[in-house]
Amino acid sequence: MARIVMKFGGTSVADLDRIRNVAARVKREVEAGHQVAVVVSAMAGVTNQLVKWCQDLSPLHDAREYDVVVATGEQVTIGLLAIALQTIGVDARSWQGWQIPILTDDAHGKARVESIDGRLLVERMAQGQVPVIAGFQGVEPVRNRITTLGRGGSDLSAVAVAAAVKADRCDIYTDVDGVYTTDPRIVPRARKLERISYEEMLELASVGAKVLQTRSVELAMKAGVRVQVLSSFEDKPGSLVVDEDEIVEQPIVSGIAYSRDEAKVTLRRVPDKPGIAAMVFGPMAAANLNVDMIVQNLGADGTTDMTFTVGRADLPRARDILDRNRDAIGYEAVVADPEVAKISVVGIGMRTHAGVASTMFRALAEKGINIQVISTSEIKVSVLIPVDYTELAVRALHTAYGLDGPEPARRTEG
Ligand code: ADP
Ligand code: ASP
Ligand code: MG
Repeated sequence: MARIVMKFGGTSVADLDRIRNVAARVKREVEAGHQVAVVVSAMAGVTNQLVKWCQDLSPLHDAREYDVVVATGEQVTIGLLAIALQTIGVDARSWQGWQIPILTDDAHGKARVESIDGRLLVERMAQGQVPVIAGFQGVEPVRNRITTLGRGGSDLSAVAVAAAVKADRCDIYTDVDGVYTTDPRIVPRARKLERISYEEMLELASVGAKVLQTRSVELAMKAGVRVQVLSSFEDKPGSLVVDEDEIVEQPIVSGIAYSRDEAKVTLRRVPDKPGIAAMVFGPMAAANLNVDMIVQNLGADGTTDMTFTVGRADLPRARDILDRNRDAIGYEAVVADPEVAKISVVGIGMRTHAGVASTMFRALAEKGINIQVISTSEIKVSVLIPVDYTELAVRALHTAYGLDGPEPARRTEG
């Protein structure tokens, strides 16, 4: 007997038939004698709609109220799945974040999980009941307010619950049957990875491979949670996220990721003097805005142009902060460009092999794709390009690094 956390994403619970399908899968594990807790997302498209309503009312809305709105999607699915389970004879009950409780900090819209009390869940599981837990949400105990964990946050809920109940496995069921060398929806010849290291998965997730949310991988690595990514619709083995030393053959580049969720911001003619970067990025950090690629070009006249990227959803807040600090920073103009994409190649082999970046630049040049910003880390090279070239760039790089599989991968449409 094992203790398992099963997580189902939005497409897996998109309508009642799919919820019934999920219930049947859960029942199978229960009947095999396992203790099961389930974490679910909102039905496909629901969270997007809720986010849009907040943005349409006000781009600079109160993040605490945003959380109240967007956390509702998961409440619907936990209730529906609990009913579906009960209907087929499985004892189940729904749990919202605050009922467990899943305690978080107060960074509304992208809160961090601080602790989860797993005792009630363990107790119920031992009695044979299946807790059906709302992903994506928690509660901030100081002001007693609902929080959400950032887009894709149900993955984090699942891993955190798995750690809290000391689960043997955390199975992430989704609309693809594993982690691929790149998004199989863009590159049909992408190859499924039987195993991927925590480090590479973390890096891939952090640069846009949304199959797993970044923080979920971070926590899984830290807490030693065994994560498997597999299909909700097909019965076949998925991909395991494991320690580096469990992987026998290590290619130099193991995956390519893209993100269209970024915006480029350029501050024109910033005074070139000490303290300016701190003045620009300090208030952004204080407002919980993640700033990513940063470059600075020196002008001849004692000023510089400073370019960086922020998440596209954060652009209105970033602009607002820059507007309010305009006099202190002393820039001439802010130019924002949301029409960009970040393309990244990731691989542990980069630690020991040279030439990965130059292969990337050559492959993009051959397709006539202009690189706007470059950044690198130990196991990753990222470039910013015009968004219209995203698919072309990903395909070209997938071929350039020899990742193309022999045949288009079979997969289920979500
Ligand atoms: P869920 O709703 O189940 O959480 P997501 O849409 O968040 O599902 O994540 C699954 C999607 O991630 C896939 O449909 C696929 O398009 C995308 N994806 C991006 N990169 C990869 C990758 N390297 N391997 C597999 N899927 C990927
Ligand atoms: N429903 C949330 C989202 O769409 C969380 C998740 O699905 O993981 O971001
Ligand atoms: Mg997801």
